Amino acid sequence: MVQVLLFVTTKYLKMQQLVVACIFLLGLVYSERVHYYGDKVFRIIPKTAEESDWLHSWVESTLTKLDVWSNPKGVGRMTDIHVRATDVESVTEVLQQKAINFTITIEDLEKVINQEQTFNQLFSYNTGVYSFDKFNRYFDIDAQLTQFASRNYNHAKVTKFQMGTSFERRKINGIKISGLSGPAIKPAIWVDGGIHAREWIATATVMYLAKLLLQPIQNAEKVLTKYDIYIVPVVNVDGYEYTHVGERLWRKTRSNCSPNTRCCGVDPNRNWDNNFGGPGTSTNACSDIYPGKKPFSEPCVKALSESLSKLKNSPGGLKSYWNVHAYSQLLLTPVGYTTNLPKDYNEIERVGKEFAKAVRGTFGRSFEVGPPSRILYSVGGSSIDWTYDNLGVIYSYVPELRPSGNAANGFIVPPTEIRYSGEEFTAGFLAAALEMK
Ligand SMILES: [Zn+2]
Repeated sequence: MVQVLLFVTTKYLKMQQLVVACIFLLGLVYSERVHYYGDKVFRIIPKTAEESDWLHSWVESTLTKLDVWSNPKGVGRMTDIHVRATDVESVTEVLQQKAINFTITIEDLEKVINQEQTFNQLFSYNTGVYSFDKFNRYFDIDAQLTQFASRNYNHAKVTKFQMGTSFERRKINGIKISGLSGPAIKPAIWVDGGIHAREWIATATVMYLAKLLLQPIQNAEKVLTKYDIYIVPVVNVDGYEYTHVGERLWRKTRSNCSPNTRCCGVDPNRNWDNNFGGPGTSTNACSDIYPGKKPFSEPCVKALSESLSKLKNSPGGLKSYWNVHAYSQLLLTPVGYTTNLPKDYNEIERVGKEFAKAVRGTFGRSFEVGPPSRILYSVGGSSIDWTYDNLGVIYSYVPELRPSGNAANGFIVPPTEIRYSGEEFTAGFLAAALEMK
């Protein structure tokens, strides 16, 4: 009897300790999460060229203070800026002084992010079960890559591969999808997402592309007779995980990060050896567009560049590169560091327009096609300029997925959009791939 009591008591105590430990750990996770109480998203629409120029230079000069969600694009077009609670008053004053029209699209960012978090946690989260209807943790994405590779398909074969290892020692994994018909050696098309951590829809859409390529869709089968498709859904794995457990709006890598500092990590889409440190970058390590101390300092960028070079030098070569981002509904083309068009621009644009046409034909969304230097802002050290200039990959594209610049929630996309984004992107991608010469 005493033995039974002792056993029960020990068991009970262990249970209690376990519960206490769980509450403590949960508390730690929650207290570590960065909050956005009272932060707002401002939408600014310049009415004149003068206002537009001012907005551009104001955004450039206050980049460390502001979190720019969508960049200034000119007169009559929207710019969304996340303003921290402490800066709301001063930013409002500056805009009022300049008599610039603005509205507030998100009154309390914390509330919106909390709703998203609550929704995510309603489903399996970090348990190894992937869902195409929600945003998933890295562990669940990786489990789905294994699933893709473990099944048999009538028209394709899937192999899982490791692209590299991140700064925090996570595996950066992907899959290769090869068609079972067509020539044995095929040129490669590479598609990746999640180079910017907070752009969850990019990762979810790239996963959706993999799912649709493996279904008996006519254009998917056609593309797979011509090309091997490489898919890496999360390039910046450390940053992506951190957006789930630490700071939802984190964009950069997590190299040399310690808690409570924003002045760490590197923008992995400014870390390439092509006009490194050029326009659209900042030498301030706290900035979201800090390119790092030197090109390829980030393990994920280095690994990606090496994989792309290797494919370029393989017998089939590298036909096309897609570096998927969000948001604004654009298809950005090389090159970003100058407004001069590259010599292959006509061909780049021709295929880009086929992408946009097929996207529009799916759910009616418009994607604008052009170099970032002309339709957005100039940028140095980006991935597609490197693949175009250094590897000679003409068909190098950056899709900036939905929502459009008009949507209220920017990066906090409702999960119901994943299916639509996945389907329209896949339609555009397949149409573009079939147009490539
Ligand atoms: Zn991005």
